Amino acid sequence: MGKRHIRIAELLNEAPGQSVVAKGWVRTKRGNKNIAFIALNDGSTINNIQVVCEVANFPEELMKSITTGACLAVTGDLVESMGSGQKVEIQAKEIVVYGTADTETYPLQKKGHSMEFLREIGHLRPRTNTFGAVLRIRHAMAYAIHKFFNDKGFVYLHTPLITASDAEGAGAMFQVTTMDLENLPRTEEGKIDYKEDFFGKRTSLTVSGQLEGELGAMALGNIYTFGPTFRAENSNTPRHLAEFWMVEPEMAFYEIEDNMDLAEEFIKYLVQYALDNCMDDLTFLNNMIDKELISRLQSVVGTEFVRLTYTEGVKILEASGEKFDYPVAWGIDLQSEHERYLVEKHFGKPVILTDYPKDIKAFYMKQNEDGKTVRAMDVLFPKIGEIIGGSQREESYEKLTGRIKELNMDDTNLWWYVDTRRFGTAPHSGFGLGFERLLLFVTGMSNIRDVIPFPRTPKTAEF
Ligand code: ATP
Ligand code: MN
Repeated sequence: MGKRHIRIAELLNEAPGQSVVAKGWVRTKRGNKNIAFIALNDGSTINNIQVVCEVANFPEELMKSITTGACLAVTGDLVESMGSGQKVEIQAKEIVVYGTADTETYPLQKKGHSMEFLREIGHLRPRTNTFGAVLRIRHAMAYAIHKFFNDKGFVYLHTPLITASDAEGAGAMFQVTTMDLENLPRTEEGKIDYKEDFFGKRTSLTVSGQLEGELGAMALGNIYTFGPTFRAENSNTPRHLAEFWMVEPEMAFYEIEDNMDLAEEFIKYLVQYALDNCMDDLTFLNNMIDKELISRLQSVVGTEFVRLTYTEGVKILEASGEKFDYPVAWGIDLQSEHERYLVEKHFGKPVILTDYPKDIKAFYMKQNEDGKTVRAMDVLFPKIGEIIGGSQREESYEKLTGRIKELNMDDTNLWWYVDTRRFGTAPHSGFGLGFERLLLFVTGMSNIRDVIPFPRTPKTAEF
């Protein structure tokens, strides 16, 4: 029998009676002076393979060095397991210790660390069950996003991360510069001379790929962009990151209703994909993190989202008799508490809210006949609040430039955007799904810092 290194995910489904090699990190070691049971995990699955060692067959020093966190290569026979919980286990013949992990200093000794503590050891937390599960689901969702759009014929358009248009109004931007901050070049009038900067103008990290996405849609029909976005918002909430990933489809010839249909189909597809492909990890999270996770996921795929206007939503909130921290009145930007009231208490299912007051939405949204509202749509989810923000875009050159003037926006770096309305303009729509907000929903985790490998938030950029 030849020896093969097989990942534990596959190994657990292999037939007993073969010689195998497993490699991974020790989760636990228990046993007595005759026999040791090692739970080995290689990240391919939430499940461990049990390695059984007859202590007498191995040098004492080697057995001692096998502690929680150590990395091993184990050669042995795959045999049927007598214990409960696994079909097969490895009867160890040979063990190589790739790396030890000192019991005194390895921080992941016992189970049950707080999420806060695990954030401090972001370099090691992927080795925990919870973060292993979250990161595998994160991967599966990224793959499913590409699959969904690819199957529909959308083109993946790579929009730039560095941008000179600071007029999107979506959030505060991080400036990008190579200038020496201790010694800034100045103009005659004493202002900072951005002509001397790398790009010859003031640039920032993008807050959204949408504006460039629209250029793509006006040529390719249906596109999506999926990449990192950056917002220097100093909001320390469990739903905001300074660096997060966003999925932004943009579709020519879509009106707001088509946009809503796509958003609803998209989220349901992703949740169903997780249910179909990530059940081991979801079951773990359901047991350990959120007892209602799987039933909540199932309920979302099986229900029709409620659609109503902002104005109707505000009426419901006003009539609710609920005491909100932020009082409700027509014209306010809804807070998460209001969104969650509608979704969790009033309707008990996801809600798509449309036709928001134009003053709380971006300049590019299609203006309604009433002169007060725009064709915006936010998809609101249980536990999260806003998960998607989108709109039909203003396609009229006059109305778009009129709005830019009305808002006193600096349009010097938007000439290319406005050009799409001069040359072959068309009705079109799009939306942005916050990838980590989706992951909060799909994993049941409660803080957005715990669904991205290396979170960036105010005052933290470790790892
Ligand atoms: P919010 O009101 O929650 O701050 P927003 O209105 O600023 O959201 P948009 O500009 O519409 O959000 O962005 C589209 C989507 O990106 C949002 O629906 C949300 O899912 C996600 N998102 C926005 N800001 C953040 C952030 N700071 N961190 C993580 N995701 C975000
Ligand atoms: Mn925001």
